[in-house]
Amino acid sequence: MLIVQKFGGTSVGTLERIEAVANRVIETKNSGADVVVVVSAMSGVTNQLVEYSEYFSKHPDGIATDMLLSSGEQVTTALLTIALNAKGYACVGLTGAMAGIMTDDVHTKARIETIETTRLKAELSAGRIVVVAGFQGIDDKGDITTLGRGGSDLSAVALAGALEADLCEIFTDVDGVYTTDPRIEKKAKKLEKISYDEMLELASAGAKVLQNRSVELAKKLNVKLITRSSFNHNEGTLIAKEDNMEAVLVSGIALDKNQARVTLRGVVDKPGIAAEIFTALAHQNINVDMIIQNVGHDGTTNLGFTVPQNELDLAKETMQKLSAAKHVEYDDAIVKVSVIGVGMKSHSGVACLAFETLAKEGINIQMISTSEIKISMIVDQKYGELAVRVLHDAYKLDK
Ligand code: ADP
Ligand code: ASP
Ligand code: MG
Repeated sequence: MLIVQKFGGTSVGTLERIEAVANRVIETKNSGADVVVVVSAMSGVTNQLVEYSEYFSKHPDGIATDMLLSSGEQVTTALLTIALNAKGYACVGLTGAMAGIMTDDVHTKARIETIETTRLKAELSAGRIVVVAGFQGIDDKGDITTLGRGGSDLSAVALAGALEADLCEIFTDVDGVYTTDPRIEKKAKKLEKISYDEMLELASAGAKVLQNRSVELAKKLNVKLITRSSFNHNEGTLIAKEDNMEAVLVSGIALDKNQARVTLRGVVDKPGIAAEIFTALAHQNINVDMIIQNVGHDGTTNLGFTVPQNELDLAKETMQKLSAAKHVEYDDAIVKVSVIGVGMKSHSGVACLAFETLAKEGINIQMISTSEIKISMIVDQKYGELAVRVLHDAYKLDK
């Protein structure tokens, strides 16, 4: 039996918490399982390091930035290893590179390409607990890379997949996946199970309890994933295939505050313009989310799209170089509210209830996008949390 256990920032936020994590890992080891532990940096550390990196330059060097950002996880890896050794357990702490996590070279949001598991397997065979620094890897030039914010979840899932672990447990500061962020809506309910697809939509829509890429990979590799608290022994939430579950109409509401909108006015309405604009953004590795284009009039049209707030400056610079983008407006005082549920596939009227509910509160919807199991709406930042609460009520998620 092999279990991968990942502990997030709050779970390793102090030396006392690291000791509690060591005890939790020992419980698992004593039950007879082999354990690979993945740790995040102490809470707040990565934010602080990001701030430091931007002190000197708006676009700090990628290799240096990743060297800096990855240091937080190295600290907790070393401390947990020391703690486990001190308690009499054979343990080895590995950076992403030492653990064989190979990535591409897109600094600050690298993708894992392969995991070279020889060392990991040898350490486990020798009976050692293996602690791995989350959120990082190494590219083929030997430079350290990081996997994007929240990326320790991805490290854990990728390791679980590569080592064919029986279980991947994501320990955090809430008891599992809730119908919405329990910090915004006190009436939110913990879900016993959720499908990979719904979890993926929730995570992509801003529910940071799991990083979206980690859910995508868990689905692809069929990794058994559980989210639970490191502060108690309550049962968590199982993320699994849809067919084991009764389809509920709506399973959750998510809020994404990391959103900004770009609006291009008077764009020439001819073939190739959208391609030109979005190719330029893609070349800068900017993640474009929602896109809307108005019906053209007098040979011109308006085009709007959203990007992550922290990529807005780069999007602005990119737009300035494009002749197609003459009149551009930017707005970062917006948020995205999403309603997610597999039951939407087979029921009509689900979206109407969302629109009516926001209208009743006088909340204007600026953009809408839908998928088979999700409705996303852009609204003014100041109404974000209110929108989450009224939608949670409207879909009776507290029941
Ligand atoms: P960690 O540091 O352990 O990775 P994160 O802060 O990344 O933890 O994620 C956990 C947080 O996710 C919770 O504290 C909670 O506020 C937030 N969250 C947002 N949406 C949800 C949801 N639907 N269910 C549970 N937690 C959520
Ligand atoms: N420490 C990194 C972050 O804050 C990775 C993680 O916590 O998953 O984004
Ligand atoms: Mg996280």
